[in-house]
Parts: sequence; C-alpha cells; structure tokens
Amino acid sequence: MGTGSAGDFLPSDPTLERMRAAVQGCRGCGLYARATQAVFGQGSTRAEVMLLGEQPGDKEDVAGQPFVGPSGKLLDTALVEARIDRTLAYVTNAVKHFKWKQMPGGGKRRLHDKPNAYEITACRPWLEQEIAQVRPAILVCLGATAAQAVLGPGFRVTRDRGRFFLSELGPLVLATIHPSAILRSDDRAAEMGGFIGDLRLVADKLVELRTAEALEGQP
Ligand code: SF4
Repeated sequence: MGTGSAGDFLPSDPTLERMRAAVQGCRGCGLYARATQAVFGQGSTRAEVMLLGEQPGDKEDVAGQPFVGPSGKLLDTALVEARIDRTLAYVTNAVKHFKWKQMPGGGKRRLHDKPNAYEITACRPWLEQEIAQVRPAILVCLGATAAQAVLGPGFRVTRDRGRFFLSELGPLVLATIHPSAILRSDDRAAEMGGFIGDLRLVADKLVELRTAEALEGQP
C-alpha cells in the first residue's frame, strides 16, 4: 500500500542525482515490493523536451533505465525521423516502479499491468521535481496514463493528441500515443506515421520558442 505519497521520500534539497538515489527507497505506494528496482528519468539535465511514459517495462525494470526495451527502440526511430535529438531530451515515466501480472496459466513472462490512480498520484512528486529541475520547454506525454497524470482524468488522447496545452507544471504539454500502442497495432506504418507527425509538431514548436526567445533578447 505504501504511505500514499512519494513526497515522504524526496530528499530535503532535491537534485536529480539525490532523487535518483532516494527513489530506490521510496515506499509511496506498494509497487516497489514486486519490482526489481525503481527506474528514474534519464537524459540531459537541461533538456528542452521531456518525454513522459507510463511506467518502466520488463526490460527497463531489469536494466534500471527508461525506454530501453522494444518501445524505447521505436521511440528512438521516431525521434530521429522528427529531428529531435534524444541525447538532448530527458525521458522518464509517470510511475517509477514496474507493475506487472503473471501470464495466465502461470507462465514466467511478466505482463504489463496498468497503474491505478492511487499509484499515479503517489508517484507524482518525483515527476514534479524532475520537471522543476530540468525545466523543459515542452513535455510530451506518451499515452493516456501519462497524459491523464499531467492533464487530468478527463483528457482523451484519441481526441486531443497533437495539440499543445498549458499546464500547472510549467512546460507546454502535448500528448500522443505510447510507442507500445504502435507495436500492438495491426497497422504499424499508419500509427508510426501519426506518432512521427506529432513529434514533428514538437520539433517545430521548439524552433518557434527558440526564435521568440532570441528576438526577446535583441535590443
Ligand atoms: S511507484 Fe512511485 S510512489 Fe510507488 S513506490 Fe515506486 S517510486 Fe514510490
């Protein structure tokens, strides 16, 4: 069950490195108990773009790094196509521990299990602090869980993907599908095209923001 909030485990003077260490001791919800380790965000500490997924997958849980499994590979490809440099981005998840269930019939594979509202809310202080530290210009929510964690439970990715929203967390927010939805799709090419299209909107917006910033700096 946990204490109900990761805030109970945040370092008093948070930096990304201190949080990366502290998250391993988090007991904000019960997900720590069956995961290998917490998977904290990774990437440039001054990233203009933060990419937010739902939770680590099976491979990420073992590796201790976000987006290193099949979804991560697909994300890498889409970022290249959209001309967004992943090494200049920051990737993380709304929930830091892997939630899984047993294969029906008792197989060994661990199947993804969607985090519930209690777990997402409990974990949110880590995300809030990651955003406060990195201060990205744009937060890209990958999938419904990430989007609803940031923009509220009424948000619908199918209806509102590819549009920019203001958020109380600071950066502009755009939601799109999660790469795993592309992997599950019967029409991967079409879904991948739409995903890259959404990421191109992010790349274009970054250019727009940089231009506006440069103009502001002129005498
Ligand atoms: S999922 Fe988040 S709130 Fe729950 S134990 Fe892990 S880090 Fe803490």
